Amino acid sequence: MSSEGQAARTDAAGWTPKRVLATRSALTFAHGRAIAERAAARGIEVVALPGDRLSLDLSADPRRAYAEAKATLALVVAPPSKRRLQPIAPSADWRVDLAEGCPAHCGYCYLAGSLKGPPITRVYANLDEILDGLSAYLGKGTVTSRSRSRAGEGTTFEASCYTDPLALEPLTGSLSAAIAWFGRWDADVQLRFTTKFANVTPLLALDHAGRTRMRASVNPRGFARFEGGTAPVARRLAALRDMAAAGYPIGLTIAPIIAAEGWQAAYGALLDEAAQALEGVEHVDLTIELITHRFTAGSKGVLESWYPGSALDMTDANRTTKRTKFGAEKQVYDAATMRLLRTFFEERIAAVLPRARVLYWT
Ligand code: SF4
Repeated sequence: MSSEGQAARTDAAGWTPKRVLATRSALTFAHGRAIAERAAARGIEVVALPGDRLSLDLSADPRRAYAEAKATLALVVAPPSKRRLQPIAPSADWRVDLAEGCPAHCGYCYLAGSLKGPPITRVYANLDEILDGLSAYLGKGTVTSRSRSRAGEGTTFEASCYTDPLALEPLTGSLSAAIAWFGRWDADVQLRFTTKFANVTPLLALDHAGRTRMRASVNPRGFARFEGGTAPVARRLAALRDMAAAGYPIGLTIAPIIAAEGWQAAYGALLDEAAQALEGVEHVDLTIELITHRFTAGSKGVLESWYPGSALDMTDANRTTKRTKFGAEKQVYDAATMRLLRTFFEERIAAVLPRARVLYWT
């Protein structure tokens, strides 16, 4: 199933899964019941499971199984092991998961290498337990807190590692609840999320106290064929502007940066478009994160099975192997390509978005 031409399954009202599978334990939490009720009110089939085992019952045909999994939301409880936070360099001190999985169909999705099994979206019903556990990590940052240039951000918590929380928001309300919770947490902390969606209206009036940074995850318009089911880039940038006007710190996640033919013109136009979208917004606190395209043998295999025939280049051209500190290998752009890309972005950002602070390049 190619992401090119894939019908979008999300709209202004957000994602509409075909079915919600709710575990018995998830429905013992008020947040879980509220999600199930919201889904039912939208006419989505909600299956209350007799226990906590997810019986997915997916088709034997891999393409149909992919489509069925992507259209399934599972309402589950995050066990204590999932609530123990991990550092998440270079984005944040800690990773906090409100959900796992994403309904969109991006041909390069990093989740293909991180999450195992069919690509269903799991949403956590015990949100209060997840948020109540965060105070134990205050002041114990191991990533941004140790960086002299980023220490001003406080202890940072990244909510977009394993999901796109805004994609799920109309059904879950989890992101709004987390933003309001950080707004009440009178401490040197920051919730962070990045998104390829644009439905921010419910977030604008929240009492966020400046403790949440939203970033729009963007790529040139010509790459939209790799991002099935997401919001158009122009709408993401308009949403970012609205968030800035509502007093949120904001950012751009330019990811993944793809060195395909014509990339200079494409990314130049993207930066121009971002600058125009933010023009006239006063006192904007704008950061930029620059993440080049990479893949592992595992993620490449999964993505090729999900999106056969994709035009995304995952060959050896311009690539070199990088070994992580855990011994895993990934394919990144070679040094010469990296140098070209990095120089281009540094120069263009300084020219068109001089107010922006680049947080990292990777
Ligand atoms: Fe993956 Fe992000 Fe695309 Fe969702 S929006 S499929 S998390 S890359």
